[in-house]
Order: sequence, then structure tokens, then C-alpha cells
Amino acid sequence: MTGSNYLLESGGTKILVDCGLNQGSHFAERQNFEAFAYNPQDITAVLITHAHIDHIGRLPKLYKDGFHGKIYSTHPTKDFAEFLLLDSEHILNKEAEREGKPPLYTTEDVMAVMNLWQGVDYHASVTVGSFAVQFLNAGHILGSAIVQIEAEGKKIIFSGDLGNYPAPIITPTEMLKDANYCLIESTYGDRVHEGVDERQEHLEDAIEDIVKSGGTLIIPAFAMERTQDLLFHLNELVEHGRVPRVPVYIDSPLAIKLTEVYRKYQSYFNAETKAVIHSGDDILNFPGLHFTLTTEQSKEINQVPQPKVIIAGSGMSQGGRVLHHELLYLPDPKSMILFIGYQVAGSLGRQILEGAKRVKIFGEEVPVHCTVRVISGYSAHADQPRLLGWLSSMRSTLQKVFVVQGEKESPVVLAQKIRDDLALDAVIPEPGQEFVL
Ligand SMILES: [Zn+2]
Repeated sequence: MTGSNYLLESGGTKILVDCGLNQGSHFAERQNFEAFAYNPQDITAVLITHAHIDHIGRLPKLYKDGFHGKIYSTHPTKDFAEFLLLDSEHILNKEAEREGKPPLYTTEDVMAVMNLWQGVDYHASVTVGSFAVQFLNAGHILGSAIVQIEAEGKKIIFSGDLGNYPAPIITPTEMLKDANYCLIESTYGDRVHEGVDERQEHLEDAIEDIVKSGGTLIIPAFAMERTQDLLFHLNELVEHGRVPRVPVYIDSPLAIKLTEVYRKYQSYFNAETKAVIHSGDDILNFPGLHFTLTTEQSKEINQVPQPKVIIAGSGMSQGGRVLHHELLYLPDPKSMILFIGYQVAGSLGRQILEGAKRVKIFGEEVPVHCTVRVISGYSAHADQPRLLGWLSSMRSTLQKVFVVQGEKESPVVLAQKIRDDLALDAVIPEPGQEFVL
């Protein structure tokens, strides 16, 4: 995944939209250490669409390289970002150390970045030089935004990542009109999500099967949104007696901290979720759920008799506590690994997903004898029909569409579909390419 990073210039003011980390098979990708294609000192402000690391991960380097302007995002994005940047600092530094590289940035750089950061509400107006900016709801993760920028009488839309629908907790993507230009993400530009409606039933099946086999169910999960979506669905399954009682562990300090941010921003939840909370149910807690914050607590999970469910990061098994559980339970035919998120090419998760019989964890050869299962309906990304549907509401005014952020064929397929179905001019910009609007 290429880190998202766009520069806009008008009337001598330069602003950025997002400043993301490149994520491949590991965090410390070579490109992350390279100099920016512009002078960070010249940037007045950075507008952040949402807190995923491929949208914020290079902000501390930007600061380190001379940026001292302002950073704007929604309030939840700001809160999430602090935890996520500190977490990735830790992972990046461990990787850099192993490879004999200097650290990309330090915790001091992260804290300096947070001091430049200002949270704003959805639809509030922000002025930066000659740019008028608004953050609109992208429906991707809590606090995620589409960035709308007006300058020189033109309106340009940066989609950020657009959400899937219906999402368990958050409100859906806003439909827009009157835009002249749009940058649209294409993560799933070549795919149609299946089973959004059945995802909870599939989760129910997985738990019932693991209780029957007496093994361990490992769910590698992204700490943000995916973990909370799972908690929301597990809460419903448990509260309604649809699954047998089984201990569930959230074994990720990051996920535990981010879940607290969710509790703080309940005003951003959708009406159904608010109604459940209003009825007196804690949507992010249920009998049998354990949050294991410390390493000691994490290790104690091994002693708990099976069956059990462990939700741990990282979501693509590129690091984190999930590796310790995979080491133990991948060789166990009674156990199951359940993928609910995107697995980038080269990641350990992708290898297991594609049927590898042996994988390497901490330098050790580990045979994979457990069941491997996937639920695709938990994707937090819009699929091709949703991307096209969202774009079509702006169709009458759009002069050009830029298709960005997708692997391999997905931008190509989406761009062609935009030309064919919506009769719009669609281009796939190269990294570093400039356009005059
Ligand atoms: Zn995202």
C-alpha cells in the first residue's frame, strides 16, 4: 500500500492532504525513509482524512524535516492518531534497529506533531490561505472524512477511504454534489463485496465450530474499527444467547486504547447503535470478554483451557501479539484462524490466506494445520458499485476524476468503469505527477 500524500497549491499557499506511511510486507519500507518530493518547510497546513497509518504515518517525519504548520482533522481522528503514531513508532524502530537503520522518527517527534494538531467538527469551515476546507463524513471508520476544498472558484474532493455499508457502529458515507474534481480511492475498485448481510452469521458459525472442536479461534484484527465492529457483533450474539459461552480475549493494548476513544465519541455513532446504548447495553462489553493490556495477562491466555477466542493485532500478522498465538495454534488441527480484513501482498496473513503449508514466525518454521477461514463482509472499504454510486452523485459537474490508492489492477478497472458507466474523464496519476486545474 502506498502512503497517501497530495499537495495543493493556490495563491502561494501550499497544503497537503494526508501524509501516509507506505506499507508493504513490513513497516520500514525503503520509500518511507526517502526525502519528501517538496520542502516540508513550505507547507502551511496538512488536512488528514482519517487515522489509518497509510494516511498519517509520515507526519512525524514531515515535522522532523521542517514542517511546523497546522494539522487539521476531525476530533476522533486526532485522538486515534496519537495512539497509532506512537504504536507505529515502536514497530518502525524495532524494524529499523534490526536492519541497522536510524529511526524514522521518535516519540518526541510524535508529541510535537500532536501539538500542531487541531480537531474540527464535520461541516465546520476551516480557512487556510485562499483555501476553504470542510471535513465531511466518509463512513469508513469513526471520524473518517472526505476533504472538500474550494479555491479559485473550483471545488475539489479528496475521498480519503470510503466506507462499506451498513457498518455496525458508524454512520454512512455522505453523498456530495457540485464538485469540479475528485480524487477517489480504489482499494476495492475491481471487486464486489459478498456477504455483508451474512457476516454476523459467519462469525456465529466460526464460534460454534470452535466450541465443537475444542480449539482456539484466532482473529487477527485491525485495532481500529474492525475490533470494535467484532465486539459489537459478538455483544449481540452473546446477549441474545446465539453462541455458547466462551472466553473472548482482546489481546491488543492498541485496540484497548482505541476502544476507549470509541466510548468517548458515542455522538458519532449511528441511530441503531445509539438506541442499543440507550436501552442500557454496553455495546463494547459482554460476559466472558477480557481485555488483556499487559504482557503478563497476554501470556496467561495460553493457560486458559480451550475453547477460546483471541482477537489480536496486527491485522495482517506483520507484527504484534497475534504472532505469539499463531506460533502456538497454527499447527493445531482443532484450531482456526479467521481473516476478516484485507491482507496486503507479502504479509504473513496473505501467505496463510493463500494456503501456505508452512510459514516463518520469529525465524521459526511453523506448519499450518489449523482451519483457515475468511469473512469478507467486514471490509471497511466501499466496493466497486458503492464507489461508482458515490461518484455518480457528482457526475453532472465533474470535469476530471483522479483514481488513486489501489493495488495492481484495481485503479485500472475502476478508471475504465468510470469512463464507461459514468462517461467521465478518469486518470490514474503517477507518484509525483502534477496537474493544473
Ligand atoms: Zn483507511
